[in-house]
Amino acid sequence: MKAILKILSVLAILGFAPHASALDIFACEPEWGALAQELGGDRVSIYVATSALQDPHQIQAKPSLLARARRADLMVCTGAELEIGWLPIVLRQSGNNKIQAGKPGYFEAASFVQKLEVPTRLDRADGDVHASGNPHIQTDPHNIARVATALAERLSQIDSANAAYYQTRYRDFTQRWNIAMQRWEKQAAPLRGVAIVVQHKGFPYLEHWLGLREVAALEPKPGVEPTSAHLSEVLEQLKREPAKMILRAAYNDGRGSEWLAQRAKISVAVLPFTVGGSDKAKDLFGLFDDTVQQLLDAQL
Ligand SMILES: [Zn+2]
Repeated sequence: MKAILKILSVLAILGFAPHASALDIFACEPEWGALAQELGGDRVSIYVATSALQDPHQIQAKPSLLARARRADLMVCTGAELEIGWLPIVLRQSGNNKIQAGKPGYFEAASFVQKLEVPTRLDRADGDVHASGNPHIQTDPHNIARVATALAERLSQIDSANAAYYQTRYRDFTQRWNIAMQRWEKQAAPLRGVAIVVQHKGFPYLEHWLGLREVAALEPKPGVEPTSAHLSEVLEQLKREPAKMILRAAYNDGRGSEWLAQRAKISVAVLPFTVGGSDKAKDLFGLFDDTVQQLLDAQL
C-alpha cells in the first residue's frame, strides 16, 4: 500500500495527475463531452450522460445520472429546454451546490449561440416546441466554435490553476477547427439550395450553415412520430415540390423515411447528429466529415 502511494505521489510530481484531481465534467450530450475533451485534455475527467443513439428529448432521470451529477464540478449541457425532462430533477436531487443554474459549474451551450426557430407564440397544440428556440445547435460547426470560446473561458474560471493549459488547447483546437470548416464548406458547396425533407426538426442550424432548403417534415408536429396520413400528405406535396433527400438522425426510427423514400424515389441521408452517431463520427471532426459526406452521397 505504501509503495502504491509512493508511486502515485511520484507520478503526481511528474505531472501525471491522478484521476481524482482532474476536473469532473458531466456532459449532457456527446458533442459537449467531445468538446470538453478537446479543451480539457488530461486535466478533465468526462462523463457523457446520453448517447447518439438515444432520442435526446426522451431521456429519463436515472439514479446513475444522479450519482454522477453529485460529484461533478461542471455540467456542460445544451440548454434551450432540450434537457427539460430530466436535468432539473437531476440538479435538484444531486445536492451539489456547485452545478446549480446560475453557478459557474453550470454551463449552457445554447446561451452562447444565435437561436433559430424561436416561436412567436407558445401553444402545446403545436407539439414539442421550445420557448427559447430550436435546441439542436450542434449541427453547425460555427456554433461549436462559439461554444468552444465560452467553454474554454469557463474551464479557466473554475480551474484557474490550469487556465494557461486550457487556453493553449483552445487556440490549438480553434486553429484546426477553422481549417476543417473551410474544407467542409468547400466540399458542401454543391448542396446549396438543395431541397430536403427532414424527419424531425433537428437540422435548422445545418440548413442555415449549408444553404439546404427544408420543404417538409415527417413528424406531423415536433416530437410526434410520423403517421401514415401525414406521410401520404408529404408524398403528395413532393409531387408538386420535389426534394432531393430525406434527413434523419441516427437515433430516429427509419421506417417512415424509408417508406417515403421508396415512393418519392429519393434517398435518405442518415446523419450521425452527434459524436458516436456513426462509425466515422468518433470525435467532432469526424462528426462533420461524415455529415458532409452523407449529404453529398445522398445528393447523387
Ligand atoms: Zn428536437
